[in-house]
Amino acid sequence: MKERTTAIAIIGGGIAGLAAAYHLRSKAKETGQETDCLLLEAQNRLGGKILTEKVDGFIIEGGPDCFISEKPAALQLCHKLEIQNHLMKTDESHQGTFILWKGKLHKLPEGFMLLAPSDIPSFLKDPLITPLGKLRMAMDLILPGKKSPAEETLAQFVQRRLGKEVLDKIADPLVAGIHASDPATMSLRSTFPRFIELEHHYRSIIRGMMKRKKQYLKYKKKSGYIPQYSLFMTLKDGLSELPHAVASTLNRRAILTGKKVIAIERITGNVTSPPRHYALRLSDGTTVTAQAVIAATPSFIAGDLVKDLDQSLAGNLNAIRYVSTATVSLAYRDEDSAARWNGFGFVIPHKEKRKIMASTWSSNKFFNRAPHGNFLIRCFVGGARNEDLALLAERQLIALVREELADIMGITAEPLLARAYRWEKSMPQYVVGHSDTLKRIDERLQAHPGLFLAGSAYRGIGISDCIKSGDRAAMKALEYINT
Ligand SMILES: Cc1cc2nc3c(=O)[nH]c(=O)nc-3n(C[C@H](O)[C@H](O)[C@H](O)COP(=O)(O)OP(=O)(O)OC[C@H]3O[C@@H](n4cnc5c(N)ncnc54)[C@H](O)[C@@H]3O)c2cc1C
Repeated sequence: MKERTTAIAIIGGGIAGLAAAYHLRSKAKETGQETDCLLLEAQNRLGGKILTEKVDGFIIEGGPDCFISEKPAALQLCHKLEIQNHLMKTDESHQGTFILWKGKLHKLPEGFMLLAPSDIPSFLKDPLITPLGKLRMAMDLILPGKKSPAEETLAQFVQRRLGKEVLDKIADPLVAGIHASDPATMSLRSTFPRFIELEHHYRSIIRGMMKRKKQYLKYKKKSGYIPQYSLFMTLKDGLSELPHAVASTLNRRAILTGKKVIAIERITGNVTSPPRHYALRLSDGTTVTAQAVIAATPSFIAGDLVKDLDQSLAGNLNAIRYVSTATVSLAYRDEDSAARWNGFGFVIPHKEKRKIMASTWSSNKFFNRAPHGNFLIRCFVGGARNEDLALLAERQLIALVREELADIMGITAEPLLARAYRWEKSMPQYVVGHSDTLKRIDERLQAHPGLFLAGSAYRGIGISDCIKSGDRAAMKALEYINT
């Protein structure tokens, strides 16, 4: 049986695993002390959920299409990788999001920030929320703050502060949509802790949002600060540029693709120097021994890998539920896309009972996603409340999305091209109790020094969160092998 040894083994070549490998590489450059590291990826390509395809001049994102600039890790990584001149902002001339309500697309009122308006006059004029709904929202200004320490779902929080109408029309598609989740089960603490902080600080969400906006505008005026980035950022040639750029900095021998790890075992009675504490069994019959291991796979895979090592750890990792999603991208000539819609796309409240969750008008959001005179649309299918649809055959997914777009946007033309990407068990669900599950996982990990976790399952699903988790795991692994 073939065996390879390394100081730190990283399982998974998604952005979290790659960020961990990059951290180790950067530290080696900084200190002049190389750490032997090996990244094992099951597929024949790196990037995991990040997948860009270029077809006939269209740039199509199968998974994520952007990262948010408010969380700095992704932007910082682009700068470190010296690809900052490839960063691309959203196209301001198309700013705006629509909400489908009673079969019609309504533009989300100007100045609406996730849950509450920061621009009250334009919100009051807008017909999306009824006068009664607006009155209920306004109660947020006088309602007392939360006293009980009990964990709340997103639905409970929004209903308590802003009313059922805001929950159904805005929070459900816009906020829960980011996690492809059901607001009735998702933990506010684990997904949007900033709302808890706003309530704690200002008592009222609306007042808090307005105050924060005012502070920001004041700061901007005083300092002459001109924001360099839009909230959503991407890379000119698509998000896959990011994993490719990371991989290009790594030692070729430090990456093995097409290598699936099937078990992590503890080595006992170790006499080698330096010691190798873990053995990774691979599906091709080979073994990698390592002093420290970073499992940067989805948590249910990490759970499977450690099931013989620690059943309780495995049980807690498997307790994090995932749902499946799919994206379908369709390209049209401008004249066939019924109208030149002005916006970044639309989201759909669950109450509308549609088969798609949302749609991004990709070539409006980022100007170079379609050749001139063409329009690229992508739609999301599946999620917590429509999971089965995400796993339909590609042909069926495309047909389903075309029917929905015909109904909603009046697009009936044959698309120039169509692509469907199915992501089985792709979105971890941070339900109420998620932070307790994480606590139990951390406790169990104490019994396995040298074993670390990274990725979207734990403390944030966005690309920046995943990069941060990879960085942290690498830092801890380095600390471990150097002490
Ligand atoms: C459709 C979709 C749209 C999204 N949109 C956005 C967005 O616009 N912005 C944003 O910030 N986030 C978005 N996300 C979330 C974000 O893309 C993911 O959370 C993030 O990319 C996950 O990175 P990761 O490294 O944790 O995991 P992954 O990307 O899943 O990487 C894990 C890797 O581990 C490998 N692996 C698994 N098992 C093994 C094994 N046994 N041995 C070896 N390797 C293994 C896998 O092949 C994979 O490459 C989206 C997600 C999806 C699915």
